[in-house]
Amino acid sequence: MDNQKPVSPAKPAKPAKPAKPAKPERPCPICKKPSAQKLHPFCSRRCADVDLNRWLTGVYAIPVSDPEPDMIPGEDDHWGDR
Ligand SMILES: [Zn+2]
Repeated sequence: MDNQKPVSPAKPAKPAKPAKPAKPERPCPICKKPSAQKLHPFCSRRCADVDLNRWLTGVYAIPVSDPEPDMIPGEDDHWGDR
C-alpha cells in the first residue's frame, strides 16, 4: 500500500512587495534636490541659509549665484485682487 501523500504546500509564497513610502519626500525648496534628513526640508546648510535669508529680508532674492530655473513669473498676482 502506498500511503504516502504528496506534500501539499500550505500557502503559495506571496511575492514580497517593495515597501513604498506613504508620502514622497519633499525636495529642497531652494534647489529642488532631495532633502537631507538632518537639515529637513533643505538639502544642505547653504540652502537653509538661503531660505532663512529670504525670510529675514522679505524678498526672494538669492545672495548666492544659484540660478533657479523654475521661477514662475506673476505667481503672486492674487494680492491686488480686492
Ligand atoms: Zn538645496
